[in-house]
Amino acid sequence: MSSAGRSPSTETSIAAPWQRAALGANLLSPDGELGVTIFEEMTTLAISTGAINLGQGFPDEDGPAEIKAAAQDAIAAGANQYAPGKGIPALREAVAAHQQRFYGLAPHPDTEILITTGATEAIAATLLALVQPGDEVLTFEPFYDSYGAIIGMAGARHVTAPLLAPDFLPDLAALEDAFSNRTKVVLLNNPHNPTGAVFPEHVLAKIVELAAKYGAVIVSDEVYEHLTFGVPHIPITSLPGAAERTITISSAGKTFSFTGWKIGWLSGPEHLVAAVRTVKQFLTYSSGTPFQSAIAVGLALPDEFYTGIAQTLRHKRDILAEGLRAAGFGVYNPRGTYFINVDTAPLGIRDSVDLARRLPGLVGVAAIPVPVFCHPEGAERTRSLLRFAFCKKIDVLEEAAARLATLKDRL
Ligand code: PMP
Ligand code: GLN
Repeated sequence: MSSAGRSPSTETSIAAPWQRAALGANLLSPDGELGVTIFEEMTTLAISTGAINLGQGFPDEDGPAEIKAAAQDAIAAGANQYAPGKGIPALREAVAAHQQRFYGLAPHPDTEILITTGATEAIAATLLALVQPGDEVLTFEPFYDSYGAIIGMAGARHVTAPLLAPDFLPDLAALEDAFSNRTKVVLLNNPHNPTGAVFPEHVLAKIVELAAKYGAVIVSDEVYEHLTFGVPHIPITSLPGAAERTITISSAGKTFSFTGWKIGWLSGPEHLVAAVRTVKQFLTYSSGTPFQSAIAVGLALPDEFYTGIAQTLRHKRDILAEGLRAAGFGVYNPRGTYFINVDTAPLGIRDSVDLARRLPGLVGVAAIPVPVFCHPEGAERTRSLLRFAFCKKIDVLEEAAARLATLKDRL
């Protein structure tokens, strides 16, 4: 339709200016124009060029057959109408049993657990429930893209504390400086996307200490909780003084390789979960009834399943890391998640955003530039960093490594 034919209302913007700026912050358009996320952009580019997609983090193999069969059975049995707003009882009970089995925690399935439409909705509902315009939300930087967008949509101020190469842990003095009396929420992601850092106990303890000092709620996005390599995952809520102020978020997408099902959950003290539940009702009300049943089956899988996924991924990490090193990148070996960060500077590349746009055409591999997970200052610090996903079949990773080995001759 020509613009002359549009009614004035279709010309108006979808959001207030501060919301548009936040929505744009993680898009490649520097001026906050409306657009697609970096994941959407790079996957679209990978498809149109036929490149191997090591950009958007999704596995190229489905999760366990018994979980798929459980979803099919649930559909056949008629579990096809709205689930209760807080999630079906079987899944809430399965989440509680999982927290007990792995971490010795005992959230009450009726009042302290909420099933969500992926971790994405859990993050959105939590921030919208807890944060007022003018409040500050503190995240580490680089930060997962939806954090900046939702903090902006809530009208809050997004304050960051940097994670520094090579181990991508925070400087604790800088973290302390980033807290203020206006800090309403400290939102962490552990294990951390995009850097692959796994926070050790002393870092988590400092976060708890500072959150208590400033009266902040801790929101901990632990979607990669089972994807760590030789280091334990410590839920921050298990630390002394944390439980009463912590909401923990997770997702079936990562643990079970069903990212398209969008089943997530959160747990925390009753008063915080009640606040989030109230908001969540008006975002999606509920979702994925038969998938909820199936994920309840998944959460009950034996310990070997959980150790197996970490072992398999560790092997894949090592294959891709070796290939990236051989291609001439500086490699930061991750201790968790399914992402590896590389420094492109040894290849003479200064701008990973530009490289990410050219890489599919140059060698047939797609990746994600790290600066898009940052505000301008952090983007400068991470300007030559690029993230590769290794949740792909081994032969795909080997082929990607072979293609990347030719990069230095094509620049
Ligand atoms: N948090 C982090 C750190 C992620 O990497 C992702 C991407 N999977 C999400 C949240 C969103 O999870 P979901 O797909 O369950 O919405
Ligand atoms: N979490 C995935 C990643 O980091 C992407 C999810 C999405 O596309 N929103 O690659």
